[in-house]
Amino acid sequence: MSTEIYLNKPEELFAALEKELADPENTVVVQIAPAVRVAIGEEFGYPSGEDLTFKTIGLLNALGFKHVVDTPLGADINIYEEAYEILNALERKDDNYFPIFNSCCIGWRLYCSRAHQKVCQHISPIASPHMITGSVIKHYFSKKLNKPKEKIISVSIMPCVLKKYESLERFSDGSTYIDYVVTTRELAQWAKKRGLDLRKVNEGKFSEFLPNSSKDGVGFGVTGGLVEALLTTMAHILEVKKEAESFRTNEPIKERQVKIGEYTLNVVSINGFGNFEKVLKEIESGERKFHFVEVMNCPYGCVGGPGQPLPVNDEILKARAAGLRLAADKKRSIAIVPQENPTVQMLYRELLGRPGSEKARELLYFHKIKL
Ligand code: SF4
Repeated sequence: MSTEIYLNKPEELFAALEKELADPENTVVVQIAPAVRVAIGEEFGYPSGEDLTFKTIGLLNALGFKHVVDTPLGADINIYEEAYEILNALERKDDNYFPIFNSCCIGWRLYCSRAHQKVCQHISPIASPHMITGSVIKHYFSKKLNKPKEKIISVSIMPCVLKKYESLERFSDGSTYIDYVVTTRELAQWAKKRGLDLRKVNEGKFSEFLPNSSKDGVGFGVTGGLVEALLTTMAHILEVKKEAESFRTNEPIKERQVKIGEYTLNVVSINGFGNFEKVLKEIESGERKFHFVEVMNCPYGCVGGPGQPLPVNDEILKARAAGLRLAADKKRSIAIVPQENPTVQMLYRELLGRPGSEKARELLYFHKIKL
C-alpha cells in the first residue's frame, strides 16, 4: 500500500507497482476510467476516439493484473445515490439543499476549495466514481476472498494527473480508497518499457467479481454525461419517461430546464473554470437558480484530461468525445441506467443495502477530506 502519489516519478511508480504485483499475499485490482479507452490508442497508432476497452484490459492482464474493473461501475453507484439524495430534497421541499455541484472532477474540487470555500459546502457529499470504485474493490474483494482490505491493492488508470490526489483521501478508520494512480500516458510508457504493444495483446475481460457497468456510467467521461445520467436515473426511479440526450453536445455551457414527473429541474453542464466563473456570478446575483450544476475542469470533460496522450487539439478532443458517447451506447444492451446494472444490483444486495443506507454512507461518501 502506497503513501506516495508519484507525481512526475513514473519509474518509481512502475517499480512500486511491480513489487505489489509480485507479492503473493496481495490481490491487486485495477480500475479503468471511461476516458482512457478512447485515447490510449493514440500512443500505439490507433485513431483518436477508437473504443479500446477490451484491448486495454488485455494490456493490463499482460502487465500482471488479473482483476480489471470499470470505473463506470462507481459512476453508476455515484449517480444512483445522487438521484435519491436529490429526489429526497425535492420531496421535502428543501430549497437550501440546492444548487448541488458534482464531486466527480478533482480539478474542480481542488479549485473550489481554494477559490470558493462557500460553494464547497454545496459539492455533493457522495465520493467521486473513482473513489467509489476503489471502495467497492477494497470491500467487496476483501469480503469475497476473506482477506484483510490492506492486502487488496487498489490501482487506477486515469486520464488525470490530479486524480493522484484522491489516493490521499481516507476512510474514518484511516484506510485508503485508492493506493496507486497511473495516468493514460504513464500506462502507455510502462507497457512500452515492458515491450508490450496494445495492437498485439489479446483482448481481455472485466473481473468476474465486478463485471458490469451501464451506458450512463461510461458517459461520465465526457461533458454532459453526468447530467444525462442523473436525469435518466431520476426518471427511472420515478417511473416516468425522459430522454436526456440533449446534453450530448460540446458547448462549454449547456443550460436546460427539464420536466421529470411532477418536478421541473434547472440543470447546467459546464466545462472549463472560466465558464464556471460566468455561471457562478449569475448564481450569486440571483439571476439564475439551478438544482444541479456539473463542472468539469477540462475541455470536453475527462476525455481532455491532463494525463491523456499528447499532443492534443480540438479535432482530437472531438473524436474522443464522439468515441466515448458511442462506447456508452454500446452498453445499452447490458444496462441503460445504474439500477438496471446487474453488478450494481448485486452490490446493493450483498454489501450496501439501499441508497443512502448507513453502510452506503460509510463506504460511498467522503470521510476525511485531505484536499
Ligand atoms: S475533468 Fe479534467 S481535472 Fe476533472 S477529473 Fe476529468 S480529467 Fe481530471
